Amino acid sequence: MRIDLHTHSTVSDGTESPAVLIRAARDAGLDVIALTDHDSTAGWGPAAEAAQVEGVALIPGMEVSCRTDSGISVHVLSYLHNPLHAPLVEEIQRSRDARLSRAERMVERLGADYPITWADVQEHIAEGATVGRPHIADSLVTLGIVSDRSEAFRHILTAASPYWVGHYAPHPARAVELIRAAGGVAVFAHPVASARGRVVGDDVVGQMIDAGLQGLEIEHRDNPEPGRQELRRIAARHGLLTTGSSDYHGEGKPNRLGENLTSAAVLEQIEALATGSVVVR
Ligand code: AMP
Ligand code: FE
Ligand code: FE
Ligand code: ZN
Repeated sequence: MRIDLHTHSTVSDGTESPAVLIRAARDAGLDVIALTDHDSTAGWGPAAEAAQVEGVALIPGMEVSCRTDSGISVHVLSYLHNPLHAPLVEEIQRSRDARLSRAERMVERLGADYPITWADVQEHIAEGATVGRPHIADSLVTLGIVSDRSEAFRHILTAASPYWVGHYAPHPARAVELIRAAGGVAVFAHPVASARGRVVGDDVVGQMIDAGLQGLEIEHRDNPEPGRQELRRIAARHGLLTTGSSDYHGEGKPNRLGENLTSAAVLEQIEALATGSVVVR
């Protein structure tokens, strides 16, 4: 069984529609794929339709943007939650609204040094999508300012750049609580991905575990090996599930579908723990 539990579509910052993503999953020889767009479940419907046509099993999911009190960005994956659970829906809507005004402010700042306008960036945002820096990066590529998203993220769009603006997001322990209340399974995404920025310490991990965290995404290209070993110890100590995933974004990132996989035994446990929605087969 080839199981990839972390992918993005044009509903957030991936470059392929949910239906094209599912076809790509079939072509990559995956048996099971989770669609985990940032702060949105809008892709679940079209992905489910495509999954049934292509014969790929779909785990409906989401990646919740979070922020600690000291401003560290954390992502929490949710699997099989109820997409209509009002407290969770309200929280992700608040993040999505904040992401939009934040992107507008970043483009305003960029406009002082580069010939970029909000209208340029809008061309790269699919209707209703969760807005992120990758959309600004795509616009910088079109304008010939950088060659690809990765280059944009190396300097212009990093958290250390003068153009960077933060946005509201819930504390990761709060996100875990909301995911659990919505019947979902909560997995800490790429917990030691230091290339993304600062990573959290034992204090925040402890708060997330106390809030009901159920798993750690360990096999992910952004987790360096020494960090993975520490994560394996934490998982063993606290009885957490461990997953592996690609974090595929289409052409937006070098990550390839199926480059990391999750075991069938772990998927079985995720399904058994979830009460908010069901796998599409
Ligand atoms: P934001 O959500 O606006 O904070 O932007 C973060 C998103 O940018 C992440 O979800 C990644 O998908 C994407 N990202 C981060 N680093 C890179 C990179 N080097 N190349 C392409 N995309 C990236
Ligand atoms: Fe992303
Ligand atoms: Fe992430
Ligand atoms: Zn992701």
